[in-house]
Amino acid sequence: MSKELPKHMTKGGPGDHTFKTSLLGGKVDTTAWFAEDHMFDPNTYDYIDNLLDEGTIAKKAKDQEIFFCDIPFTQVYMEIDGNYQACCFAKSSKKHNVLNTSLVDWMHGKELNKVRSEMLDPNSKFKQVKKTCQRCIADEKRYGRSRRTACMKIHSNAPDYWKKVVQMVKMMEASGEYNMMDGGRILEIQLKVYGSECNLDCYMCVHANSTIRQKVADEGVWNDRIFLKYSKIAKEKLRWVTKDKNEIYNDEDVEIDKDGVIYIQLDKGNLKNDGVAKKVEVTNTESMVEQTVALAPYIRSIKIIGGEPLIMKKHYELLDRLIEIDEAKNIMIKYQTNLTETKAGKHNIFKYIPEFKLVSMVASVDGVGKTIEYMRRRCSWDKIVDNAKLCDEYDNVDVDFNGLVSFLSVMRFYEVIDWCLANPFIDQINWAMLETPPHLRVNNLPEKIKKDLIPKYEGWPDIQDALRMPPEKNLDMLEVFDYLLKADEYYKGTKWEMNLFDVFPELEEYYIPKENRPASNTPYKRNLYGTDYR
Ligand code: SF4
Repeated sequence: MSKELPKHMTKGGPGDHTFKTSLLGGKVDTTAWFAEDHMFDPNTYDYIDNLLDEGTIAKKAKDQEIFFCDIPFTQVYMEIDGNYQACCFAKSSKKHNVLNTSLVDWMHGKELNKVRSEMLDPNSKFKQVKKTCQRCIADEKRYGRSRRTACMKIHSNAPDYWKKVVQMVKMMEASGEYNMMDGGRILEIQLKVYGSECNLDCYMCVHANSTIRQKVADEGVWNDRIFLKYSKIAKEKLRWVTKDKNEIYNDEDVEIDKDGVIYIQLDKGNLKNDGVAKKVEVTNTESMVEQTVALAPYIRSIKIIGGEPLIMKKHYELLDRLIEIDEAKNIMIKYQTNLTETKAGKHNIFKYIPEFKLVSMVASVDGVGKTIEYMRRRCSWDKIVDNAKLCDEYDNVDVDFNGLVSFLSVMRFYEVIDWCLANPFIDQINWAMLETPPHLRVNNLPEKIKKDLIPKYEGWPDIQDALRMPPEKNLDMLEVFDYLLKADEYYKGTKWEMNLFDVFPELEEYYIPKENRPASNTPYKRNLYGTDYR
């Protein structure tokens, strides 16, 4: 993999090389922020007057005088457990969730306002940002790249979007209050409220995100050390996250007392992790679809995330409502999809596509051919490619690849990059470094494999940095082998039968059958990830 990717495919990275230390200690390259020529050309529609003048948000962000991220100003995000977050990488709110807070109240609440104010203050102590955005802060220190830097790289070069961000910030500074309607059509809605129905069993995916993963786990493919104990509480939590929460007040577990107060019986573990069953009052009693529809004139895009969104029938209700009120034509729909199915019952995504302004199909692709078929078990690479091509036939569809760089995928991810170069109908390629479960991180691979991979990622410094990192302490790589081999066993005799060492033969020499392993807690075990591993 030596060729540079074309610029349109690297909007969110790579290409970051000139690092400077941010206010929060990360290495950040802002060279490509606010860098598109047309934004500085008064003869274009994209021109922004005084864009990088002293004192502007753009200048302060680019020079890293502030730790700025546009996401808390524009994104409405709810995690699959029903908790609100600033974005998919942010820490969950401990107080605000689908049971007690409306979309508008979350966006206008103290918690996010604190994040926003700190992001505009060059002298901030970042008390709230350090809690909320710890993943981006850590990623910038480790890899010099984060969700924040990727978003800023893309959004700072989108003049229409940026003008509205500036408008929102100025209104907030003038009034002392943030108002989500101040920017006009700028909001991105990402609500994981339609459950987690999924048709694949991806080896690195958290079980909460896939009903098939949960079924396979129930039937024995689990590892307590990697995923923690599969206890009654864990199962109850999975039952909760799998629920469709669009109208949680109508859920089968809901009770209404004699005073008309709505309660839901919850495993308290959802909130406090002590596993005690508890009745929680439900005060957010308007459907999330209707709350979203009410914001439609301010919505730029809606991202549907699963499970696998294209098979989640419920989300089509939202699409139908947006078409009904004639707003679909103004809104972009983004899918984070495995792109293996395009229909759900009577719904067919190809019927909906022409109704919307734009549709962005972001396919979870981090391997090619057998590699992805092994890592994302039950998928078919040919089907993904066919569906990607079908989507590309529509003028209003972008097809992007977005992969997770993990223990297995890093051994072949460069093939995805090469495949995209050879198939230019893919509009963008992006990736994130796997964070949880820690066993499945890139840095836990054997040292020799990591070393051999580094030259393959020339020009991709964040992946190289991840490969140079030492393994996590006190994690046993053999647990990963055990878990993967258990899955191989489970799929034996099915059409998805595959074997770890056929797909990743370079791993085989590091495997020690259980009967030959030294007892735990020996010095030998502590060296499992060192060069003297074998
Ligand atoms: S800094 Fe990172 S975690 Fe915080 S809102 Fe931005 S993208 Fe999300």
